[in-house]
Amino acid sequence: MNVYDGQRITNMLEKFGMIQTDNVADADLIILNTCAVRAKATDKVYSALGRIRRTKKKSALLGIVGCVARESGADAFKRIPELNFVLGPQSYHKIPDIIKNPDAKLLNIDLGGLEKFDELPQMTKSPTVAYIPIQEGCNHCCTYCIVPYTRGRELSRPYNDVIKDMINAANNGAIEICFLGQNVNGYKYTDSDGKLYKLSDLIRETAKRPEIHRIRFTSSYPTEMSDDLIDMFGTEPKLLPFLNMPIQSGSPRILKKMNRPDDINAYKTIVHKLKSVRPDIQISSDFIVGFPDETDDDFEQTLNIAREIKYINSYSFKYSPRPHTAAAIMPNQISEQIKSVRLYKLDSLLNENQREFNMSCIGREMICLYEGIDKTGNNMVFRTPYMQPCIVQGTDDKISPLQKIKITDANKASLRGEIIK
Ligand code: SAH
Repeated sequence: MNVYDGQRITNMLEKFGMIQTDNVADADLIILNTCAVRAKATDKVYSALGRIRRTKKKSALLGIVGCVARESGADAFKRIPELNFVLGPQSYHKIPDIIKNPDAKLLNIDLGGLEKFDELPQMTKSPTVAYIPIQEGCNHCCTYCIVPYTRGRELSRPYNDVIKDMINAANNGAIEICFLGQNVNGYKYTDSDGKLYKLSDLIRETAKRPEIHRIRFTSSYPTEMSDDLIDMFGTEPKLLPFLNMPIQSGSPRILKKMNRPDDINAYKTIVHKLKSVRPDIQISSDFIVGFPDETDDDFEQTLNIAREIKYINSYSFKYSPRPHTAAAIMPNQISEQIKSVRLYKLDSLLNENQREFNMSCIGREMICLYEGIDKTGNNMVFRTPYMQPCIVQGTDDKISPLQKIKITDANKASLRGEIIK
């Protein structure tokens, strides 16, 4: 979501004749697009601001946008007096106001609706992977999560607006569409005739576009995986065989305290249904270790589910208490030391799953999407249908973005392959 927001901000500022620079000292306008989901992300913003205020041009405008802006509000100006603007995730389209009136202190952390989508200029070029937000905010209120506070209550964008963005992206070079939302599979929009549109309708319509070859969506809430959506994995080959469906913990007792769906069997049923319509599908998850009151036995159940589902490409985090959340004030907070030990154990298991899956890909042929040149400058990086990076030796400026690649080698982090001519 933040990558997308960053692209929209860049596009909007280009309309004002601005160009991007990598060098803070050259910039006339400096924007930090921020994440508040864990304390570490917020801390990083303030340490970056501390650095930037010393290196920037005196006349340069400095601002933060996104969730830390929303979380800090006017306090941000007190902490960093050099800040010119603080704009929440639903109001970054107001950045031009500060260019027009640079002496003001601009603060807007309203949640309101999704007006920004109407006010931002249309994108005139598209990256090969086009992110399209379809809903924002979340009503689930997981007790650890700051997102309902920072991004607000769930709002789905009008179906026709999403389709317009999708067609625009397809016409401008997109090959993959990634639908975005904090609760993406909860997308529901009823038009003025009373017709209800769901995520499966968006996927079906997108798959009709010949320019689009790959479709995915993130992040999903397990119990919103309705049968119409599961069935799409069986009927729509453009939908990638890979789904991020976070479980967070394997312990029903902890899931209840997290205010998450706590029926592990119901979760496994969804995985089973997905595998029955799409046998090659792989699932990834997000995990939180060290949630308040998590015992060794609860944690053991998390390891068990990770072993059983054999998740790939997963994310795991130490629980981080966040303001405005119920879990932050729960009793029996877990020590950092225990969190670190549990994270290490879980990561070892997830890495082993990942390595095993990557190894199992050796010998397979996959259609992969070109991403760019790697850090060495000597290799091309592609993304497999499972979002694994796949490295191919050599470079080619004119390479067409979709290539059939035979996987020749693998390790935990990536694959190697050869283009099949
Ligand atoms: N559905 C949301 C999730 C975003 S946060 C979205 O797509 O916007 C991504 C992951 O961060 C969550 O799935 C969860 O595993 C983790 N997370 C959220 N709050 C956290 C906290 N307080 N401490 C640690 N991890 C957290």
